[in-house]
Amino acid sequence: MIPLKSEKDLEMMRAAGQKLAKVIRTLRGYIEPGITTIEIDRIADSLIRQENAESAFLGYKGFPAHICTSVNEEVVHGIPSERRLGDSDIVSVDVGIKYQGYFSDAAITVGIGKVSPRAKKLIEVTKEALMAGIKQARANNRLSDISHAIQEYVEKNGFSVVREFVGHGIGRSLHEEPEIPNFGRPRTGLTLIQGMVLAIEPMVNTGSWECQILDNGWTAVTKDRLFSAHFEHTVAIGESGPEILTNYN
Ligand code: MG
Repeated sequence: MIPLKSEKDLEMMRAAGQKLAKVIRTLRGYIEPGITTIEIDRIADSLIRQENAESAFLGYKGFPAHICTSVNEEVVHGIPSERRLGDSDIVSVDVGIKYQGYFSDAAITVGIGKVSPRAKKLIEVTKEALMAGIKQARANNRLSDISHAIQEYVEKNGFSVVREFVGHGIGRSLHEEPEIPNFGRPRTGLTLIQGMVLAIEPMVNTGSWECQILDNGWTAVTKDRLFSAHFEHTVAIGESGPEILTNYN
């Protein structure tokens, strides 16, 4: 069952999305050479509190931090640590919040100082792939139209999409149906209808799409240890097309 949102639900999810967007916008300003990922986590914690919201990730299946910070070859679910970021690193920051019973989820990847042209392109392509997927998030399209648009854009640009992790429905739970793969054939799967809210989140690898999980049981890394990037928005299927609820631009 895919929970459809009422207009009242959507109002709450817009509020949650705007709060999350503000957190990410502010947080982004702190991410520069010399910062550690645990410092980013602490700042995020404080910004989330200022919005009268709470972290959706802290304690989720035992996750030990407020946000995920995935550096370089880390794909998703990186655990904030004393690791200090410097020139040529990239970091994916995934933030989920709960506000008055409603969840919102978004992610960005940021280059630190001077990054390689390849890493810069990876970040750009991942961001654009998310936008290509969002464009397809409209009533009467099929779910896989989103998946296909993302995969096509990524592969056209010489990168690969992660298979092991997918986007998801979101609302009163962080993860609701449906699962949204970032790959697939167009015009298959369920038909999208107004009132669905989806967290669309391409994870894009420089090399092979294959991943491994580190011994901490959480952090996914690329098998070939090449860089990976991640962008995510919470998006409502509106009457006249997609509505990005977490617009942090
Ligand atoms: Mg998500």
